[in-house]
Amino acid sequence: MSGYQYRGKQPHVFIPKQRELKPCGTEAAYKRHLFYREIPCDECVTAHREYLRKWRRANPDKRRRTLQPCGTLSAHARHKRRKEPIDDACQKARREYQRDLRARKKAAIR
Ligand SMILES: [Zn+2]
Ligand SMILES: [Zn+2]
Repeated sequence: MSGYQYRGKQPHVFIPKQRELKPCGTEAAYKRHLFYREIPCDECVTAHREYLRKWRRANPDKRRRTLQPCGTLSAHARHKRRKEPIDDACQKARREYQRDLRARKKAAIR
């Protein structure tokens, strides 16, 4: 083939992808400050606070201290966790939950 010039081995131009560092004002940057034992900057502190707030909103039950009464799914889970006998009220709550779940799954398939 004319016109085609074999140039031999090209220098390796591929630059290994570096881990992109997140800019300040993100949770990742906040953690990075802590990792390097730096004092997180204001932007990062604000971002972290925001992150915590969102996290708490997304996981409300992880923060709740008061125990759910019997007849709720949480109570049922608690019984199981503590290997306690499961009373009727909790049994019922669990059954209802599963029925609900099945109904929702069916609805999702459709
Ligand atoms: Zn920062
Ligand atoms: Zn119970």
